[in-house]
Amino acid sequence: MSRSDELKAALASVRARIAAACVAADRDPGDVTLLAVTKTWPAGDVVELLALGVTDVGENRDQEAVEKVAAVHELAADASPRWHFVGQVQRRKARSVAGYADVVHSLDRPELADALGRAATAAGRVLAVLVQVSLEAATDGRGGVAPDGARALADHAAGVSGLRVAGVMAVAPRQGDPAAAFARLREVALDIRAGHPDAGVISAGMSGDLEAAIAHGATLVRVGTALLGTRPLVSEPAR
Ligand SMILES: *Cc1c(COP(=O)(O)O)cnc(C)c1O
Repeated sequence: MSRSDELKAALASVRARIAAACVAADRDPGDVTLLAVTKTWPAGDVVELLALGVTDVGENRDQEAVEKVAAVHELAADASPRWHFVGQVQRRKARSVAGYADVVHSLDRPELADALGRAATAAGRVLAVLVQVSLEAATDGRGGVAPDGARALADHAAGVSGLRVAGVMAVAPRQGDPAAAFARLREVALDIRAGHPDAGVISAGMSGDLEAAIAHGATLVRVGTALLGTRPLVSEPAR
């Protein structure tokens, strides 16, 4: 099978999973955005996915993202995907990320909001940010603010010019019931939305757990492996 056919089949299968999960949850499939997480995969794969109708593309390392955004633009100047940054952002990378990202999923501290807001403003852009919520019992190095600190961080970011608070993001804990974690995330999301009515995005669910996330209100699922295949182990980034 050509890579193009492979991606087409994988995309159909992921879309079918999303549709089935929406039926099961009595939700409209149009309310769930598919974000293709293309880290470690070449720009050519991104271009194929865009041609197949994918609109949202995610990366988790700044250096790789900078190169891929440029390469995709080179290969398909007419395609204009929404670029999402889903990895942890070091403060010194804020300027770079704010230059190409439309949405940053990993806002986890006020200093980062300030740095991203300054960088977006300097670039004449407005950056959508999601508050990353940690659903682990203990901090695990994958980032995220504790659930009870999420509202305060959203309030802070809402006051930073150059930023638009768009919702929340989380990665399911390595251990325990993902459903319980996603249910907790929804509570946090509703609390934030009470103060910020436009912050409706719930970014949750990956290749292995997108059904559970959709059952608990995810409006965006971040899918890598199920679309593109198993990433080479050496390149598996630390999150
Ligand atoms: C890599 C990554 C994904 C995609 O994970 P898969 O299991 O390959 O679907 C989703 N979210 C984040 C934050 C990631 O880094």
